[in-house]
Amino acid sequence: MSEKRGVLRLGVLGGTFDPPHYGHLALAENGRVQLRLDRVLFVPARQPPHKPSRPITPAHHRVAMVEAAIADNPAFLLSRVDLDRTGPHYTVETLALLQQEYPGAELYFLMGGDSLAEFLTWRDPAGIVRQARLGVMRRPGYEPDLAALERMVPGIRERLVWLDVPRLDISASDLRRRVREGLPLRYLAPPTVEAYIRRQHLYEGC
Ligand code: ATP
Repeated sequence: MSEKRGVLRLGVLGGTFDPPHYGHLALAENGRVQLRLDRVLFVPARQPPHKPSRPITPAHHRVAMVEAAIADNPAFLLSRVDLDRTGPHYTVETLALLQQEYPGAELYFLMGGDSLAEFLTWRDPAGIVRQARLGVMRRPGYEPDLAALERMVPGIRERLVWLDVPRLDISASDLRRRVREGLPLRYLAPPTVEAYIRRQHLYEGC
């Protein structure tokens, strides 16, 4: 393990996790193996800057669900870095705080393939790639214009690593809809997460 060489390789998966599901876990686990990460931090957002309109489930529920989802993987950890401070939270700041918390660690920010186009609209994308490499899920049929990306965010090309992750067509919004409509969550999210949702009656209203 690279930790033995003294450099901690740390994956960072930010999200709302409302709720966490197998799409998140597949991305984190494939990132862990392909990037030889020692740890993957799941970083729930308090109030994500790009989702200001929808009421987000209270953080303590999302934390409990992430903890339930990652409990069986010793490399996965929950980070409260974005929960214990007031928002809005920008990835560039989150990474700076994590770098302080884990001095000398190499950061790998993990993203679903859809997020790369959006990434250009995030605050200070150049600052993000200065602090972290990007582990991005490759999407079949999607060939990003890397030269154009590089023009907009100098340095991004050499900081970007493509991940081979099976595309699971699962999203938290769809899971919330499924609960509302009485459809099953089984095989879409870990049973422990589903049990928590049922116990706490989450997502049953509109
Ligand atoms: P919502 O449906 O509420 O927008 P979501 O399912 O996309 O939520 P987020 O918490 O917003 O979940 O996502 C956190 C991170 O996980 C993002 O980088 C996102 O691209 C990635 N992600 C979400 N769903 C999947 C999936 N099915 N496979 C791989 N990555 C995913």
